[in-house]
Amino acid sequence: MAANITVVGTGYVGLIAAIGLADFGNHVLGVDIDEKKIEMLKNGISPIYEPGCADYLERNLKNGHLEFTSDIGIAIQNSEVIIIAVGTPPDQDGNVDLSGVFTVAESFAQNLNVYKLLVTKSTVPVGTNKAIVSKVENICAEKKHGVDFDVVSNPEFLREGRAIQDFFHPDRIVIGTESDRAKALMEDIYRSLYLIQTPFVYCNHETAELIKYAANSFLALKITYINQIANLSEEVSADVHQVAQAMGMDGRISPKFLHPGPGYGGSCFPKDTEALVVLGNEYNIDLSLIKETIRANKQQKKRMVDKLGTMLEKAGKQGFKDTTIGVLGLAFKSETDDIRESPALSIIESLLENGAKIQAHDPQAMENGSKVWEQVVYCNSEFDAAKDADAVVICTEWNIYRNIDLARLGKVMKSKIILDTRNVLDIDNVHRHGFIYQGVGRLLR
Ligand code: NAD
Repeated sequence: MAANITVVGTGYVGLIAAIGLADFGNHVLGVDIDEKKIEMLKNGISPIYEPGCADYLERNLKNGHLEFTSDIGIAIQNSEVIIIAVGTPPDQDGNVDLSGVFTVAESFAQNLNVYKLLVTKSTVPVGTNKAIVSKVENICAEKKHGVDFDVVSNPEFLREGRAIQDFFHPDRIVIGTESDRAKALMEDIYRSLYLIQTPFVYCNHETAELIKYAANSFLALKITYINQIANLSEEVSADVHQVAQAMGMDGRISPKFLHPGPGYGGSCFPKDTEALVVLGNEYNIDLSLIKETIRANKQQKKRMVDKLGTMLEKAGKQGFKDTTIGVLGLAFKSETDDIRESPALSIIESLLENGAKIQAHDPQAMENGSKVWEQVVYCNSEFDAAKDADAVVICTEWNIYRNIDLARLGKVMKSKIILDTRNVLDIDNVHRHGFIYQGVGRLLR
């Protein structure tokens, strides 16, 4: 049976969940405190860039399965399932800011008129769902209404840039609850996934919460591992791509997440690794692998700047002062406009601090970039970004950079120097065009 669902938070996760669940035939209300976002969404405009999102949005608005509102109270009263998909950003100490999550839990309790299910999709530290249950119970007790409810931990694993594909074809759905009623409702809203035999993992709140942090931290660690092997490859004349490929042929290792680069970024890995360390400290458990991953990842980003400095030095430049650097790519990965914790952020910050002038280009993330740095020159094309540049740094693996016209690039640049932090260019081709080139862990003939 189709359910009435409210999704609170219409960002990279909430919007995809809302349109995906609507596409399954449920009636979904998307809610956000950002009224500008809600207005855009009501008009069929996606506030984020995510491939395929606009089409699904349009289709489900038109067929009436999807609506948007800023009125969380009315939305909760009219829904049986309420999904929390608000942000859980880190604070300075790596703690998770749960204020958004608890605000939604409070609204849930205040508007509980009949049995409802509260689903936590936001990534939250172990113990949060238990705390949500207590909060709702306390508010209900104060209001003296004995209405029944359940809370499910249902962490999300989608990847930005492939979010639609991931939502409709997830590797697994984790359902953290011990209530049979809640399990049945979850199966109901995800019926389409259930029918295509997506694995459903049933567990308690704490297990579900830890699965999410353990998975993200492992992926961060795997990236960091191959980055360190890439750095070593450079010193010993090995080719990291061949190393990674042969490693990945081992079924126990798998080829995924073995792509060397400038260090991981994005809105999840940096904050989730920090949060896992905080949890370990709280329970006096040694999570030194994750601590080291965080440190090494920061170092990898710094290494990119040092590498560029060395390349410029060899070309006769002393430091970055008075240099012009063309930065290609601001997003933390391709096919998204998200720049949160992007490697480009730390690279640009460091270059600016050292007196470089930055000319940047990104196919989707320029608007978000312009909110961070006013002093960066945002360019309409990759060639404008490279114009009169002393060097170009490729920070995101967008396809347009993979296929860049190197002859044209070389003509507009002052010096033909490329640091390719994503290893997207063909080495023979860059050499044929007379560039001084460095990648990450690649064998340069
Ligand atoms: P986001 O910042 O893109 O979106 C969060 C949205 O919630 C924003 O639109 C914001 O206005 C809204 N919001 C905040 N407080 C609110 C409130 N009290 N009431 C209503 N709306 C509110 O965040 P995101 O990237 O979608 O991440 C959401 C959660 O999902 C986080 O916990 C994140 O860790 C997790 N997650 C993210 C990804 C990802 O790839 N982005 C993947 C898996 C899990």
